[in-house]
Amino acid sequence: MFNLNEYPLPFRETDLVPYMSVETVRTHHDKHLGAYIANLNKLIDGTEYADMDLREIILKSHRDKNATKIFNNAAQIFNHEFFFNCLGRGNTLIPDLISDAFGGTAEFKEKFKSIANDVFGSGWVWVVMRPDKKFEIIATKNADTPITDGLKPVLVLDLWEHAYYLDYQNRRSEFIDNFLEFLIDWKFVLDNLNVE
Ligand code: MN
Repeated sequence: MFNLNEYPLPFRETDLVPYMSVETVRTHHDKHLGAYIANLNKLIDGTEYADMDLREIILKSHRDKNATKIFNNAAQIFNHEFFFNCLGRGNTLIPDLISDAFGGTAEFKEKFKSIANDVFGSGWVWVVMRPDKKFEIIATKNADTPITDGLKPVLVLDLWEHAYYLDYQNRRSEFIDNFLEFLIDWKFVLDNLNVE
C-alpha cells in the first residue's frame, strides 16, 4: 500500500508564489497525486503487484497490456514525486554540467522550450541521462515515463493542464518560461545525479 504521507512536498506551499500558486501546489499534490495513490492501491489490492515497490510495478505493468491502469497510476506517482522534487527552493542557477551539454544556457532553454511547446495534450518534458551518460531532452505522453526505456530522469516538467491552468489558463508557454527561470531546484537535480 502506498500513502501520500510518503511523498511530502520538499518545499513550503508558499515557496513558488507567484510562479505557482498555493492553490495549484495544494490541488496538484493533495488531490491529483493523492488520487493516483488511492487508485493504485485499489488496483493492486490482492494482485501480484501488491507487494512490489513502485519501480517494479511500473516496469512490470508496462510489459503487460492488461495492466494499463496500474501502469498509468504507478507511473504518475513516480513522475509526480520526481516533478515536485525538481521544484524550487531558490537554487535557480543552471549548472554548467547541464548548460554545457546543450551548448550553453540559452541553447538549453531554447531546446527545452521548443520541445515543451510542441507537446500536444497531456504529457511531460524531461532531461534524461542515457546509458552512455549523454543528456537528452525528450517529451512523454500521458503517464509515460523514461525509466521504462532505461533512461535516468534528470529534470521534469509536468505539462498536464492541472499543473498550470489555475495560474496561467491558456498561457502554457509562459508557465514553461517561468519553470525554466524560477521554479527549478538545480541543487536537487545535481544531488540526484550524484546518487548513483
Ligand atoms: Mn500533474
